[in-house]
Amino acid sequence: MKDMSFALTDDQKALKTAVYDLCKQYTGEYWRELDAKREYPDAFINDLTKAGYLAVLIPQEYGGAGLGIMEAALILEEINRSGGNGGACHAQMYIMGTVLRHGSEPQKRQYLPKLATGELRLQAFGVTEPNAGSDTTKLQTTAIKKGDRYVVNGQKMFISRVLQSDLMLLLARTTPVDQVQKKTDGLSVFLIDIREAKGKGLDVRPLRMMMNHSTNALFFDNLEIPADSLIGQEGKGFSYILDGMNAERILVASDSLGDARWFIEKAVAYSSQRVIFGKPIGANQGVQFPIAKAHMAIEAGNACIDCHGGYGFAEEYDIERKFRESRLYRAAPINNNLIMAYVGEHVLGMPRSY
Ligand SMILES: Cc1cc2nc3c(=O)[nH]c(=O)nc-3n(C[C@H](O)[C@H](O)[C@H](O)COP(=O)(O)OP(=O)(O)OC[C@H]3O[C@@H](n4cnc5c(N)ncnc54)[C@H](O)[C@@H]3O)c2cc1C
Repeated sequence: MKDMSFALTDDQKALKTAVYDLCKQYTGEYWRELDAKREYPDAFINDLTKAGYLAVLIPQEYGGAGLGIMEAALILEEINRSGGNGGACHAQMYIMGTVLRHGSEPQKRQYLPKLATGELRLQAFGVTEPNAGSDTTKLQTTAIKKGDRYVVNGQKMFISRVLQSDLMLLLARTTPVDQVQKKTDGLSVFLIDIREAKGKGLDVRPLRMMMNHSTNALFFDNLEIPADSLIGQEGKGFSYILDGMNAERILVASDSLGDARWFIEKAVAYSSQRVIFGKPIGANQGVQFPIAKAHMAIEAGNACIDCHGGYGFAEEYDIERKFRESRLYRAAPINNNLIMAYVGEHVLGMPRSY
């Protein structure tokens, strides 16, 4: 397939190749087994951490590579293009951004170097709630200051990788919504030590989901956390979370681009060798054009499944797994309706819908 990465520097191209080569060692069989058991990819994450890829956005003074969002995006794209699932990787990259931008100097010195080496994992991000999904400002989890502690009560829903992380970033309301000027005020961000919290006010209940993201429901019942778990200023957490989410959107888009490239590469290889009615099925324009169209739009998915016929639905081809995994990004971390609402309102100047 023609290399279209002409706009990249030599270093970026070398980074792509190195990431892809490392990830390719983790075969479809590896991912299939984890997917069937809904197990976290420990060995894969440890290898990528050792190679420094998860610390790409951490500045050098805190032990990271000090590179930019472009390099982070390329890493995610290659992970997904190799057939892997980049969920845990993009999580750690963007969640640590809140600590980096808004944490105190002691917090940065305490956590970032350990995240860079892999001594600590920060891959859990607690925002969504049963009664407050897309409408984050309505969240009901509270953190009330009592002396040198905060006491946390409430519930979170669909929170990924809590049992595989040491730390979690939590968004909770510190001032009731009827006592703030703007509904985005009064929310605060905390860095929670999950190991300390579990069983002492934090109950984690795993949820079996369509795709393998180690997702959970969380219950907080008078969980006490030290007051210095607060990141930045009390009441300003909503904007801190948004800062991190901007990076997340870019990284998730890169996951999706990598998934699209994986689907296209699979579809091209299969339809070029599968002979039916005496010729490769890829010679038929009914098969070839959807793949070409997908390549042009980088919107694969269905074209890849279709061209594989029945095999597209068989586990050992990995296509049904990647199809489930890539489907997530239409709904989470933010659903497409709200993206279109943003374009309608802010790009096209149309009336706000919510
Ligand atoms: C596998 C998985 C992993 C996840 N991991 C995490 C995690 O680690 N941390 C975390 O905090 N969250 C996580 N989430 C949650 C995810 O971010 C939410 O599911 C998502 O934000 C949507 O919230 P909701 O499910 O409550 O849907 P709702 O907000 O209830 O929306 C339901 C539907 O209504 C539509 N809708 C709502 N309002 C409007 C509107 N104004 N205009 C048009 N359409 C509208 C939406 O598009 C959607 O289709 C995860 C979810 C999944 C599935």
